[in-house]
Amino acid sequence: MTKKRVVIAGMGFGGLRAAKALAGSDVELIMVDRNNYHLFQPLLYQVATAGLEQEAIAYPLRGLTRRWQGASFLLAEINGIDLAEKCILTDAGPVAYDYLVVAAGSRTNFFGMESVALHAFDLKRLDQAEDLRNHILLMFEQASREPDPQRRSALLTFVIVGGGPTGVEFAGALRELIVYVLSQDHPTISSAETRIVLVEAADSLLTAMPDDLRRYAQRKLSSMGVEVLLESRVVGATAESVELYGGDVIASHTLFWSAGVSAAELAGYLEGVERGASGRIVVQPDLSIKGYPEVFVVGDMACYLADGTPLPMMAPVASQQGDYAARIIRAREQGGTIPPFRYLDKGSMATIGRSSAVAAAAGFKFRGYIAWVAWLLLHLYYLIGFRNRLVVMMNWTYAYWFQERQVRLITAKKRRAVSL
Ligand SMILES: Cc1cc2nc3c(=O)[nH]c(=O)nc-3n(C[C@H](O)[C@H](O)[C@H](O)COP(=O)(O)OP(=O)(O)OC[C@H]3O[C@@H](n4cnc5c(N)ncnc54)[C@H](O)[C@@H]3O)c2cc1C
Repeated sequence: MTKKRVVIAGMGFGGLRAAKALAGSDVELIMVDRNNYHLFQPLLYQVATAGLEQEAIAYPLRGLTRRWQGASFLLAEINGIDLAEKCILTDAGPVAYDYLVVAAGSRTNFFGMESVALHAFDLKRLDQAEDLRNHILLMFEQASREPDPQRRSALLTFVIVGGGPTGVEFAGALRELIVYVLSQDHPTISSAETRIVLVEAADSLLTAMPDDLRRYAQRKLSSMGVEVLLESRVVGATAESVELYGGDVIASHTLFWSAGVSAAELAGYLEGVERGASGRIVVQPDLSIKGYPEVFVVGDMACYLADGTPLPMMAPVASQQGDYAARIIRAREQGGTIPPFRYLDKGSMATIGRSSAVAAAAGFKFRGYIAWVAWLLLHLYYLIGFRNRLVVMMNWTYAYWFQERQVRLITAKKRRAVSL
């Protein structure tokens, strides 16, 4: 009897977990991704702030598949899904499936603001992190030889939009890069003349965290020298300025956007399928698409309602859903079934800077050094690959003791990647 074929579309957190759980079982497994590596997105901001080299947060997918029997990898751009014919359409040709796990993640949402999309930096890909690092380092190079004080000030002003974990972590890491490294590299630039402005539309940072942790994060960032603007929104941008709702303009050559995501483009290729907020695909309690019990959607692309609210776009949700999709496929192949998907919320955390983080898990709250150590250990644990863990641990230890960022390399003087 021929084995059933399971195709996994997208090898991020959800796809990887589904593949791991299916590897070695009695199915043919085909993993498809536009990249030949799995990317650990939560550490992209450390690549952008010269804390980690990009190789340390990516893992080659063929390195996984060569160890798994019955599994193969296809490097391809998926540009369609034919639900009726049961095949995905790729630039390497169509791939038929018996079961499909769609795990293509999300993309940055600029809420239709074209000027912001054109000028802002965002972080979804490795090349974007490298672009942002190059840009930050170039701003210091240009500022150090800029005679005009106003231009110099704009070059040294960095605006970050979004007070969620990514915005907070990026703001803290950028401040430390400037204070400990760049202002030492550039004797003519004092860290006091640089500005980091963190803009958040809500009335607090880290809105998913308990009150006291939100206040701690804000106090900590302010004490580090980050200006926090709450209940404020960015509505436009040029290459040299950022416009706020109400008309205020901040002269700045750097706008970093972490204020929203929506489902990846692939969601748009699924015709006649119900979509929820941010274009996510509405899924059944078993994560399948209504009317297509052989197609599962997991991770950022899936809109799964838990008590009426969509689950957040976070790595643990994607991983648990990937695992569930694999288990239900295996159960069906054995003629059985399993109970509906349930998300086990293990909490959330964000690091703010050296020895400082916030974490809320299982009704407990931590902040400061303990939360920071927990953050470091958890991220090391979830990184893929022994070498990556080792390299990241060495980088963090070195940076902690010597306050150094070895990867402050300008590898291109022009920006390559603009998300539109
Ligand atoms: C900067 C940043 C920081 C974050 N920090 C945290 C954090 O601290 N904690 C947390 O829990 N979550 C964090 N997240 C969110 C987390 O990374 C996502 O929720 C998670 O990656 C979602 O997993 P996924 O499997 O749905 O998608 P992804 O991990 O994004 O994987 C999608 C995969 O699909 C592939 N793909 C997409 N479209 C196509 C196509 N058309 N053809 C071929 N391949 C395609 C992509 O290459 C990618 O490999 C962060 C995200 C970002 C961007």
